[in-house]
Amino acid sequence: MKSWCTPLYEGTFSVGLDKKFFSIPRDGKPAKGALKISLNPFLIVNEKRVILIDTGIGSFGEDTGVERLFENIERHGIADYEVTDIFMSHLHYDHMGGLAHQNSGFWELSFPQAKLWVSKDDWARVMAKEEFYDTEKTEFVAFLDARADLYFLEAEDQPYPEIRVERIGGHTQFHQVLWYKDEDLNLMMAGDVMATRAQVNRVFAAKYDHDPEQSKQQRMRLAREAYEIGVTILAYHDEVCSMFRIVDYDPKLGYVTEPVSGGRP
Ligand SMILES: [Zn+2]
Repeated sequence: MKSWCTPLYEGTFSVGLDKKFFSIPRDGKPAKGALKISLNPFLIVNEKRVILIDTGIGSFGEDTGVERLFENIERHGIADYEVTDIFMSHLHYDHMGGLAHQNSGFWELSFPQAKLWVSKDDWARVMAKEEFYDTEKTEFVAFLDARADLYFLEAEDQPYPEIRVERIGGHTQFHQVLWYKDEDLNLMMAGDVMATRAQVNRVFAAKYDHDPEQSKQQRMRLAREAYEIGVTILAYHDEVCSMFRIVDYDPKLGYVTEPVSGGRP
C-alpha cells in the first residue's frame, strides 16, 4: 500500500479583534478590520497508521462543529475510530478544537482510539493556566488531560521511524515542526510558523507571535531547508493551496512554488 496525505479543508473564517471565528465563503471578504483565516487539518495514511496533524476548530467557532472534520475524514474512506495518532503543532484552539466535543451533551473524545502526541512542555504550560481562554475551553483541556491517551514529546523527538518533531518556538513558546518521511511521502508541517504558501517569500515579524523574531528566523530557515530537500509543505491556514513544494529560487522573485495534489493514490 502506498502512503498518502490530504488536507481536510474545514472552512474559511473572518476573525476580528474579539477572536471569534465567523464562516465566510472561500473567496469571500472578511469583515472590516478582520483577518481572513482558513483551516486545514491534515490526514496521513500509511500501512501501519492513520495520522491527523492538528484537528481544526471543532465547535469553538460561531457556527462550527466537529461534524465537518468527521465528514471530511469519511469522504476519504476513514472512520473516526480508525485514527491511530494525532500530532499537535501547538495548542491553540483553532488547531485542537476537534479533539473532543459535546454532541451528546457531555464531553467525548472525537477519536477514541487515537494516541494524542503533544509537546510535553506545551501541555504543562496549558495545564498550569487557571483559565484556558474561557470556561468551556478550560473544561475541554481538563477533559483531554483526564481522558485522552496522551503521549508527550521532547524538544527533539522521533516517536515513529517516519515522524520526527523539532521544537522551533516562535508562534508559541513550544511550537513544533513535524517532519514526515517514508518511501512515498516527504512532508513538513510547521503550523503557524509557515502557515500559508505566500509566507515562504515574506520576511516579516508578526505581532501575533509569542516571539516574532524567532518565528521569522525559523520561517526563513525552514523555507531554505524545504527547498534543499524537496519536502512538501503542509500549510494549515492556506485558503487555496495547502500542499506545495518549493521548486526553484529566483534571485528577483524569490522561491518558486508549485501545488502538490494530495489524496488516496
Ligand atoms: Zn493557527
